[in-house]
Amino acid sequence: LTGPGQLFEMEEVPGHGGTVRTWKHAPVHFRALLEISRFHGDKVFLAYEDEHITYEEHFRRAATLARRLVEEYGVGKGDRVAIAMRNYPEWVISFSAALAAGAIAVPLNAWWTQQELEFGLSDSGAKVLIADGERAAKLAASGPALIVTRGEVPEGARGFQDVLGEVAADVTLPDVELSPDDPATIFYTSGTTGVPKGALGSHRNLGQSPMTVAYSMLRAVVRAGKDPGEAAGQRRVTLLTVPLFHVTGCFAVMTTTMFSGGGLVLMYKWDAGRALELIEREKVTVFSGVPTNVWQLLSHPDLDKHDVSSLASLGYGGAPAPPKLLERITEQLPSRAPSNGYGMTETTALAINNSGSDYLAKPDSIGLPMPVVDVKIADPMGQELPAGEVGELCMRGPNVILGYWNRPAATAETIVGGWLHTGDLARMDEEGFVYIVDRAKDMVIRGGENVYCAEVEAALFEHPAVDDAAVIGIPHDELGEEVGAVVRLKSAATPEELQAFLRERIAAFKVPVRFWVREAELPRNPGGKILKTHLRKEVLGA
Ligand code: AMP
Repeated sequence: LTGPGQLFEMEEVPGHGGTVRTWKHAPVHFRALLEISRFHGDKVFLAYEDEHITYEEHFRRAATLARRLVEEYGVGKGDRVAIAMRNYPEWVISFSAALAAGAIAVPLNAWWTQQELEFGLSDSGAKVLIADGERAAKLAASGPALIVTRGEVPEGARGFQDVLGEVAADVTLPDVELSPDDPATIFYTSGTTGVPKGALGSHRNLGQSPMTVAYSMLRAVVRAGKDPGEAAGQRRVTLLTVPLFHVTGCFAVMTTTMFSGGGLVLMYKWDAGRALELIEREKVTVFSGVPTNVWQLLSHPDLDKHDVSSLASLGYGGAPAPPKLLERITEQLPSRAPSNGYGMTETTALAINNSGSDYLAKPDSIGLPMPVVDVKIADPMGQELPAGEVGELCMRGPNVILGYWNRPAATAETIVGGWLHTGDLARMDEEGFVYIVDRAKDMVIRGGENVYCAEVEAALFEHPAVDDAAVIGIPHDELGEEVGAVVRLKSAATPEELQAFLRERIAAFKVPVRFWVREAELPRNPGGKILKTHLRKEVLGA
């Protein structure tokens, strides 16, 4: 698949603090991807409820909005354009327009509280914010020029359709010179400090991503013993079950679809029952999401009532997928080519993937690194460890971000000599398959959504009754993990009071569902770090 003259040919290019191996035929920047997508013409790109938008229509609207951003809002190369909305077609159009104008797109988490959203806007220094009515109501006075869709337009803001105005058939992209190492996106991700950091992605990062995903899919087909030519010739319709403001939704699904000319079915909000209806109605061929989405689909009482025969593949990632999930898929939806993808915000989504016969043979592995990604398992000094030994998973490649926006110290800590330190503990077997063993970072993954313990603990400490706090993951069948907290109190406070207090400060998905009150001091190591494994054993018995 990767030899000379093949679509998946590779080449060495300068960048990433030296040279890096990337796909020779990947789009060099987003404008190239957008121009390529136009060749898909009158095929449907975006489907949302009763709206169907073709590739040509998407191109025209994105190009028109890009021109308005440049001409009416003074957006220039490198300016930040934030997007805060649910998975509406306008999300995709706004993202395309921002990048086509040479700006950096800043997708904000739509589940964030007002306070969190305001942080994202000021940290990124957004010049323009494109939001849905729900978010616009909270952010009308937050600073950037505001463009609003699907909802009330606050005073001083403008409606999306009004800004777009007339969309001409012969519209072209505004003139902007872009190169592969120019920044393109800022996705917020938290870290050990608990303060969200903007992961700064480049045009090369996003250009290589559809090729990486396409390669993984083709490899899955080949490994499943199917004909790749036949698979490549079929129109793909993907159901987007995860938010576009995550790299999985944006890159592993949306821009990959844009590149391949497939259809993308959008949902306002994940709902397994609605997903089944949409699979049947839109003849969805690819289901893509986090493991929780797949569990919920398989456990839905209406699964047998719907025609899901169009489904050809089930892809998931972003959180650990227990081998039991593969068993369930094989049992309930056989021959659906399941695949497990590992990736991070910092690796522009997919980096390592397990599928086909490999996955059946090694269901507990996240698979093999993508050909453009170098992987090493390193000791605490960054030295590569031999096969079988557990160390930190590190990666290098055209998918690794430029760094963190305005945070040189965090960048230097995370990307060392071109190697991204993932904070995941892993081992590699003799054949190069990677196994995630544990997380070195203090984080709970709830239904694919990362919850950084430090962030929740910091919010808990603001409560006057809290003396000490430790946030831990509670095992949960469908979600993988739920958020729990062990607290020591100075004065009386009920779990309900603490929850209500937190809900004003952090997004609802981060608020602990269970509290344990501990009379004694929380156990700490000599360095002062809370011994969470010990605490987890104490409260959960595991
Ligand atoms: P994010 O940056 O939000 O995409 O989160 C990335 C983190 O999610 C990784 O560092 C892993 O801890 C976890 N993760 C992602 N994909 C997988 C997977 N397939 N299996 C296990 N953990 C995963």
